[in-house]
Amino acid sequence: LTTRLPAVGTTVFTRMSQLAAQAGAVNLGQGFPDFGCERSLISAVNDAMLADFNQYPMMSGAPVLRQAIGTKIGALYGHAYNVDSEITVTAGATQALTTAILCCVHPGDEVIVIEPVYDSYVPAITLAGGVPVAVEMEVTATGYAVPWSKVAAAVNRKTRLIIINTPHNPTSTVLRAADLQALSDIVRGTEMLILSDEVYEHMVYEGHRHESVSRYPALAERAFVVSSFGKTYHVTGWKIGYVAAPAALMAEFRKVHQYNVFSVNTPMQHGIASYMADPTPYLDLPAFYQRKRDLFRDGLKKSRFELLPADGTYFQCVRYDKISTQTEAAFAEWLTTEIKVAAIPVSAFYQQGKESGIVRFCFAKQDNTLALALERLATV
Ligand code: PMP
Ligand code: GLN
Repeated sequence: LTTRLPAVGTTVFTRMSQLAAQAGAVNLGQGFPDFGCERSLISAVNDAMLADFNQYPMMSGAPVLRQAIGTKIGALYGHAYNVDSEITVTAGATQALTTAILCCVHPGDEVIVIEPVYDSYVPAITLAGGVPVAVEMEVTATGYAVPWSKVAAAVNRKTRLIIINTPHNPTSTVLRAADLQALSDIVRGTEMLILSDEVYEHMVYEGHRHESVSRYPALAERAFVVSSFGKTYHVTGWKIGYVAAPAALMAEFRKVHQYNVFSVNTPMQHGIASYMADPTPYLDLPAFYQRKRDLFRDGLKKSRFELLPADGTYFQCVRYDKISTQTEAAFAEWLTTEIKVAAIPVSAFYQQGKESGIVRFCFAKQDNTLALALERLATV
């Protein structure tokens, strides 16, 4: 069989988790919490199963969940999506992202991605026959930033889609209003679409505001906006998320979705819908994770790692050039096997594997897990 994805192997997250397990390392690599979710969320799903919400839901998602999502987006970002025609429940954000790409990218179309780039976008573009065009974020003393003039320069008449991610994995960068303004200026008067990956929308620190694309009508009118319950409710294994987009885009999205997964499991949709009636869990999330971020950052200040800013997500990037001259992959493997703390090389988020001397840690962990990791990291 001739592969359709020659550049693809096993994801760095899977590889590093396997290595962490083999080495008995604290796994700060792959992004997932090592603590449980709210018991009431589990009860809500259990109740839905006992109430016999166990057959196929509507292809677009259970109406109660689409309603809850629409209400949340309206309350937080002031955009009133039509819950019948403009919101679809997906099997995690990954499926939403891939389906959005497949439904709008034609062979030969160019898609602008910002590097470092989350690993699922480029393979999906390739499967669609599209051409990924990478624009690198700039790394300055104050952290990573998107150079919008370079994004503008990468646009040509073949550009079909621009993919953004805020808060950003792996750099923890949170786009500001000025960034969204710059993006608006680039797409104004063109046919380009936007795919906005906002899975970390509720993890923004220092009082920053999450600049959802759905806040900006000139962007929302041409955008697929994606989020994930896995991140927000500490249930990454549930693989349930959603996409919001104007009706014309959503109609195309659903053409692919219905033959891609058709629909997403019913009881979780009902359980999550009833749990969402209370906004407290996601409103409390920034404070919950900021405390962990600060604990982790304070601990790392006692090590030879240099901290990069972390304004959002549950990731912390660090420079290790005072410790080692190894490549990022080699350093991350050494940390995992010798120091027993797993990390992710940021080079894995660049198509050409750019080396910046930076690795990523995930701090969505119990305090004692973080304490153990910090104790070990202080020794290197
Ligand atoms: N986008 C980004 C930026 C992510 O970090 C992740 C998962 N960590 C996803 C999408 C995928 O989300 P899901 O698990 O809901 O598919
Ligand atoms: N998005 C998670 C991360 O960045 C991993 C998800 C996955 O393993 N596919 O660590």
